[in-house]
Amino acid sequence: MKRIFTSIIFYPVLFLFVLLSYFSHYQSYAEENFKGYVVCIDPGHQGKENTNLEPIGPGSSQTKPSVSSGTRGKLAGTEDAVNLDVGLRLREILTQKGVTVIMTRVTPDVNVPNSERASIANRCKADLCIRLHCDAGAEHNCFTLYPALIKNWTDDIYDKSLKAAGIVQKAYSTYTNIPDKGLIPRSDLSGFNWSDVPVILPEMLHMQNPEDDQKASAPEFRQKMAEGLAIGVFEYLKTASHQKNKS
Ligand SMILES: [Zn+2]
Repeated sequence: MKRIFTSIIFYPVLFLFVLLSYFSHYQSYAEENFKGYVVCIDPGHQGKENTNLEPIGPGSSQTKPSVSSGTRGKLAGTEDAVNLDVGLRLREILTQKGVTVIMTRVTPDVNVPNSERASIANRCKADLCIRLHCDAGAEHNCFTLYPALIKNWTDDIYDKSLKAAGIVQKAYSTYTNIPDKGLIPRSDLSGFNWSDVPVILPEMLHMQNPEDDQKASAPEFRQKMAEGLAIGVFEYLKTASHQKNKS
């Protein structure tokens, strides 16, 4: 009798339960709405570098080129193009879930200094600014830069930036299967020091690593990169301290 119960009743009921819980989970994800949230996407670099110097932060005497040239891969091409393609794909995914997305650029033919990119995110009061980059070198990993704690520059955005960096880095690394090198604070980036909103900079892969170069050249993998970032961004936006009063 016990064996009959197990085979005829228990397993079908278990199967039904698993099926139902799967669909209810899927349903809740599909219906998640991020209306009211603003994300600024900054695809790093541009078609042509801008070597005009700009202060690395408000009132600073230390300067840096406004936009550096970025790196390139043998197969994937220029970094600025990869960053832009992934950025546009990320915009599509976020927009579909109701997020308002502001891009700092949508073509290579622009001249937008890094300080101005921070201002764009500030003006739209972004919940998060995500600056997309690929690193030079042959390492095989990914990591995320976040603003170092600097009084009067980043102290107001430090906690949230660090939190976002941790969440996005983990989600991206797990989803793309690119080894996780963790988080690195930076005190010298104008795009961080001019920012009044939480800001992070994922270095998504290394363009002189043959495997990463190959991957970065494939549209399917660029989509995967965008999806990995999106999972992290959604997770960050969902965290309790970032819940907005939605009317
Ligand atoms: Zn870069």
